[in-house]
Amino acid sequence: MHIGLVALPWWGYVLVTLTLTHITIASVTIFLHRHQAHRALDLHPIVSHFFRFWLWLTTGMVTKEWVAIHRKHHAKCETPEDPHSPQILGIGTVLLQGSELYRKESKNSETLTTYGHGTPDDWIEKHLYSRYSWRGVGLMLVIDLVLFGPIGLTMWAVQMLWIPVTAAGIINGLGHYRGYRNFPCEDASTNILPWGILIGGEELHNNHHAYCTSARLSNKWYEFDIGWLYIRSMQMLGLAHVKRVAPKVKLVAPKQACDFGTLEAVLALRLDILARFDRLSKKMHAKTEEIDALRQSLVALWQRSTHSKEQLLDHLQTWCKQAEESGIPKLRRFAQRLSRYTLRQTAKG
Ligand SMILES: [Zn+2]
Ligand SMILES: [Zn+2]
Repeated sequence: MHIGLVALPWWGYVLVTLTLTHITIASVTIFLHRHQAHRALDLHPIVSHFFRFWLWLTTGMVTKEWVAIHRKHHAKCETPEDPHSPQILGIGTVLLQGSELYRKESKNSETLTTYGHGTPDDWIEKHLYSRYSWRGVGLMLVIDLVLFGPIGLTMWAVQMLWIPVTAAGIINGLGHYRGYRNFPCEDASTNILPWGILIGGEELHNNHHAYCTSARLSNKWYEFDIGWLYIRSMQMLGLAHVKRVAPKVKLVAPKQACDFGTLEAVLALRLDILARFDRLSKKMHAKTEEIDALRQSLVALWQRSTHSKEQLLDHLQTWCKQAEESGIPKLRRFAQRLSRYTLRQTAKG
């Protein structure tokens, strides 16, 4: 005799479990990560609260703790202070003990005060979500048992394991260890897969580290970010508002020299340009010293944040001239192409 309220064929239970875990993943990537930690988008209060409630019910994670630990990860990436760097701690530790690392860091009050600003601080946060952070998952267990009977216990266990395995283990571990890189970030971040579905788009972790305030994590035409699909759908319904996405380049007609429009694009597209330059230099075997010097000079452009716009433009123009005069056809074409750069106004509305 079935003792749960809902009787399903076996695949029905699988489907329900996968749907429940997917909602949790969406809450982590959209609410905790892109909205709270990086402020890449605004959410309607009802949506925002739904995600918060759902995370309380299915993970027991406190928004302030998650956000603070994550911001610290960006600020101290791949250093001994990074809460979960596989480059420092070893891949096995991060994969298998990801949630222990998280729990340990959540007890560090200095992390919470330095990095946890701007997170929910209202009545329900203080009196329920933060104070009784583990009552939610207890309630979820009761709901699963009442709805589905004894199989509900298994479904609940899968729900409980989902975030520790996928986010704390796979993203924090493999996302800084294995995969491909679109951008030569200073950290070791990688894109685990070009299709971000199972972990909500977080698979594209190198893209995220390159442009961490972008609400969209996919970057190349063949990449897919399901979290971005949800964000766009919510935006169409007036439930979300995208504030920032990674800059994209547009090529204008060839011109004599770089102007301020070019400079703006070149400054914003640092990692895109460096990635392109590195691909190019890999294809060339000769004159490596000259190429290294040009790369250093290009990197210096982005490091001169105290220089005036005029000085920076002068630096860029000189760089293009040097590249064109290098006598290397590929470099000349690179510089000519660079002078045609302008920022494409990305659709946010
Ligand atoms: Zn990371
Ligand atoms: Zn992040």
